[in-house]
Amino acid sequence: MSEHKAPEKGTISIHTENIFPIIKKWLYSEKEIFLRELVSNAVDAITKLQHVNLVEGLQLSEDYVVDISVDKTAGTLTIKDNGIGMTADEIRKYINQVAFSSAEEFVEKFKGLEDKNQIIGHFGLGFYSSFMVAQKVEIRSLSYQKDAVGAHWTCAGNTSYELEEIDKKDRGTEVILHLEETEKEYLDPVKVREVVKRYCNFLPVTIRLAGDQVNDSQPLWNQSATEITEEQYKEFYSKLYPFADEPLFWIHLNVDFPFNLKGILYFPRLTTEFDVAKSHIKLFCNQVFVSDNCPELIPEFLTPLQGCLDAPDLPLNVSRSYLQNEPQVRKIREVITSRVAGKICDLARQDRVAFSKIWEDIHTFVKFGMLRDDKFYDKVKEQVIFRTTGEEDYTTLNEYLLRAAAKHDKKVYYANDEAAQATYIKLFKGQGIEVLLLDALIDSHFIQFLEMKNSEIKFERVDSDVTENLLEEERKIQLAGPDEQKLQTQQVKELFEGVLKTSGLSIRVESLKNDDVSGMILLAEQTRRFKEMTRMMGKGDDMSDMFAEHTLMVNLKSPVVQNILKLQNAKREGDAAMLAEQVYDLAMLSQRSFDKERMEAFLSRSNKILEKLGVMG
Ligand code: ADP
Repeated sequence: MSEHKAPEKGTISIHTENIFPIIKKWLYSEKEIFLRELVSNAVDAITKLQHVNLVEGLQLSEDYVVDISVDKTAGTLTIKDNGIGMTADEIRKYINQVAFSSAEEFVEKFKGLEDKNQIIGHFGLGFYSSFMVAQKVEIRSLSYQKDAVGAHWTCAGNTSYELEEIDKKDRGTEVILHLEETEKEYLDPVKVREVVKRYCNFLPVTIRLAGDQVNDSQPLWNQSATEITEEQYKEFYSKLYPFADEPLFWIHLNVDFPFNLKGILYFPRLTTEFDVAKSHIKLFCNQVFVSDNCPELIPEFLTPLQGCLDAPDLPLNVSRSYLQNEPQVRKIREVITSRVAGKICDLARQDRVAFSKIWEDIHTFVKFGMLRDDKFYDKVKEQVIFRTTGEEDYTTLNEYLLRAAAKHDKKVYYANDEAAQATYIKLFKGQGIEVLLLDALIDSHFIQFLEMKNSEIKFERVDSDVTENLLEEERKIQLAGPDEQKLQTQQVKELFEGVLKTSGLSIRVESLKNDDVSGMILLAEQTRRFKEMTRMMGKGDDMSDMFAEHTLMVNLKSPVVQNILKLQNAKREGDAAMLAEQVYDLAMLSQRSFDKERMEAFLSRSNKILEKLGVMG
């Protein structure tokens, strides 16, 4: 070391004398980011050295490492690297000028703002953030350059500093924080470890705390997808979300044009605890953790996605308003949407059975995405599957229509409540007609949307009154005694009309092959949908509105109806009427629940019928 010079004393060119207390106060809640800033500076210094090493052929060979240590007696936290180092001149330039000028700019910009939430995250304070927790900061550094002399910089949390030469043998930088009395928690290795793990877990250089490595090695997203096994993807996921079930599928992003984006996104198994309204993505910037609350990065319909995105072109300190307005963020969303669509298509084409297993978890999001995003719709429309009563458990719409073309036209029959519509479903099955089971909340919107997109497709619920084709099929098989049947049909119609005086009710008599069914309620598809919509919007008064107009289809072939005819022919009109009412109520019950009065009437009539049965026996 050269002859000892008196330390250089100076004032940091800063105009706001009280900058320190202001910043300390403002950044209170986000204090721990100082560690992120200092550790990433240390990692940068190593990366820079590795770069120079390559370019200048310095042939330095040693383990690059960032060492963090605490000294409880001295009350210090030290971050030490063996990176590129700084000369005294560089400290003047990069620390006194650059770091402090950005801090000053920060204060100038946000002086008037009271709400600190508006400020946090807007600004990278870098090195300067160490003053949030330290009353004094020292830098001891030795540059990699030949014949460099060690430099020692000290600043006691005000605008003056000291800079002197020191005898330092090992290349690199040590930043020593003399912690404030109130910030002694950063002397606790458990706390320090937690913060480093959170922000620096995927940094590419070994980070040690008291000699033990804290961070993982390379993050998986930086490796090539072809070299990663399924097990490794799952293992990485369980490291990120230790308590989660295995993910359903994942996509590995590696985009370098027109912007850089890497990451692995996972579609989780949705459990009841899973919050689908919250964003779950961890955002990184060059492997430094930035935030796990960036819903802007993912299209709304994909919010359940979990995993990591590394977007090196976004600033380390992103704010919500930045993300909302940044055009690149929109492009990131587009890339993600398109990759998810691609993945869905791959899964669907590869293995229908496996795909149908994950479908129940993803279909709401896929459908929502299709409603929202035309490009997404176009990409995945062929792959949407529906649960069906057909031979296979699931079918696409195209497959359904192909099979249907032979039996009925472009109509798509569906049920949205398997239990309540069981009779109808059975009737369709008896005809060899497949029924799609669309019981999710989103399905009623989704089918309207599909009809709008494909004018030739019409969805019809199994209980809609325009299932004409189906009945035509039925009529064809009515072979015996057409005349007598006509007479009976007329008689039953008149009988029911005479007994049931409910307003808005019409009676239709058919002869159905399935004689289990005595009566069924039919509602016009479009009217029903409209009523459902107004009810959902809170405009319709109640359930009864839905049945303002409805049809009771009476099945002439049913033994019950045949009995009613016999009773009437035997002049037992009272009993015939009682049974007719019972047929109506039974049909009605599968559609809605009764109010008190009707339920009482139904029960007492049921009892009477049971009594008579006993007498007959
Ligand atoms: P930023 O990292 O955003 O440039 P900082 O205030 O954190 O801003 O740091 C200012 C500059 O100081 C850095 O750009 C770098 O040149 C220098 N520097 C900071 N920490 C170190 C370090 N550990 N080793 C070498 N140089 C450093």
